[in-house]
Amino acid sequence: MGVIDEVKQKIDIVEVIGENVPLTKAGRTFRALCPFHSEKHPSFYVYPERQSWHCFGACNTGGDVFSFIMKKQGIDFGEALRLLAERVGITIPSKLEPEAGKDERERLYQVNAAATQYFHNLLLHSPNGEKARDYLTGRGLSLKSITEFQLGFSLNSWEALKQYLIEKGYTENELLTAGLIIEGEAGGTHDRFRNKLMFPIFDIRGRVTGFGARVLDDALPKYINSPQTPVFDKSSILYAINLATAAIRQQDRAVIVEGYMDVITAHQNGFDNVVASMGTSLTEKQVSTLKRLTKNMALALDADAAGEEATLRAVGYENTLNAEVKVILLPVGKDPDGVIKEDAQIWQRLQEEALPIVDYTFNMVTSELDLTTAKDKSLVVDKLLPIIAEIKDIVRQAHYLQKLARLVKVSERSLEAALGRIRASQSRGKFRKPQQETVTRSYPLLSSPVEEGCLAWLLQYPELKIHCPGLLPEYFESSENREIFLAWQKVNDIKSLRQNLDTAIHEHLDSLVAKSLPPTSQTEREDVVASCILRLQEKFLRSLAAKRGEVLALEAESGGTAAELAKLQEQGLDVSAQLGEVFVQRSRRR
Ligand SMILES: [Zn+2]
Repeated sequence: MGVIDEVKQKIDIVEVIGENVPLTKAGRTFRALCPFHSEKHPSFYVYPERQSWHCFGACNTGGDVFSFIMKKQGIDFGEALRLLAERVGITIPSKLEPEAGKDERERLYQVNAAATQYFHNLLLHSPNGEKARDYLTGRGLSLKSITEFQLGFSLNSWEALKQYLIEKGYTENELLTAGLIIEGEAGGTHDRFRNKLMFPIFDIRGRVTGFGARVLDDALPKYINSPQTPVFDKSSILYAINLATAAIRQQDRAVIVEGYMDVITAHQNGFDNVVASMGTSLTEKQVSTLKRLTKNMALALDADAAGEEATLRAVGYENTLNAEVKVILLPVGKDPDGVIKEDAQIWQRLQEEALPIVDYTFNMVTSELDLTTAKDKSLVVDKLLPIIAEIKDIVRQAHYLQKLARLVKVSERSLEAALGRIRASQSRGKFRKPQQETVTRSYPLLSSPVEEGCLAWLLQYPELKIHCPGLLPEYFESSENREIFLAWQKVNDIKSLRQNLDTAIHEHLDSLVAKSLPPTSQTEREDVVASCILRLQEKFLRSLAAKRGEVLALEAESGGTAAELAKLQEQGLDVSAQLGEVFVQRSRRR
């Protein structure tokens, strides 16, 4: 699936438009006063099932979520795509990348590496580092681990690092951007990390992106991190990924823990496939990094850590991975560091006993309830059914439905009915607040094989252009296809077409150019394209007619004024006349 489809699937058009225009539910649609023209009676409609919108008033136009944002904010397709992608945690390289900002990022990696070296030397050799050394010895860390993870120590000083790095040729501005110094209230700047044990955080390529820092006494907060910088994004970083990659590939499994010390102790004991998420829950970006190495992920969780929320999120990841996420259940009050130190064999056993996260949630939900009572039975169903509804794999979904039915001694059929209702309410698209870490839901992806087929022919056989006078941009309902068509109209070869298009669309363009088409003669191709155009036109008109039909029914129901009804009907007649014309032409061709 291309990145554009991925964004579409994660974005709910009702939610996005609802943030810009106050929508009112009307039957299966939502309506509003059109944001693009001035009106007193709403003629702007949003269709959750089609993930599209249309204005039946003065605009008489519509499209998908991208075209809405483009029109509303006056931005181009690439910008709209990036805006929406960011919302769902998908990163699309900017138009000018990798050049723009490359030097700046390179400098940040360098200054972070210099700071790492500086902290590491202090830890190993400075008299001031003794407390930190003692702490690490007390925690059982070997010198080899300390070196491998490049652990360090920051002096209890306001300017030691700053002065050191400025002498090395870095500017105050670079240090600020890297988050190594901060602006004080008086206007000056000073070191961010003081008197702390330092954990440099490397990316998968071994570059230092930022730091975690731990206090050496009981002060709070226990840990502080680098702030978000152009190279440090907490939601995408996995601690120790640089050291774990090979083992994860080799063992085809990644274990995700919470703390830096958990990771280091695991590696020190030969469990090299362990990484840490930079917070309590795994994020979409972290999953996509790991996905390139393995499908099999296991989360080490405290006995009481994961709630149903976390499970829902994990099920979303399972859908992306097309594999189960497992849970390594830790003994109450223990973290992996403690377990491994006590007995590495226990850790090994816990890994082998890891449960699929849905089974784990079943156990957790039912453990505190009395399943002989009706009240608790229905509580269990309320908690578990939404999770089951989220599972895309039908075999696994059926498995858990059976399991739940047996557990509460209710027929599978009645649970299926309830499941159907949950699914329906999910696909209707409810208003949801924008979330940083959203539960992965999937919105209907309207595939457009006709649009894409037609474009593939036109792109691969440029000489067909003269046969397309009747082809209009609005026939392409997917914005990315419309973009390609509009650019294609202006130029005559793929190379210039590519240059005219945003880089974010190149992947889609390439797939169309590479699409395999049956061998044909020149005349056959002309025929194919002519009938493609008719089919596109028909698809466009039909979809318009269907939308109009819905609106007409709603208007009639809610007592719309005669004038408006008449106008809609008139537009509708026009559409049916055009549709009739398409049928005539198609039958002539047969
Ligand atoms: Zn309008």
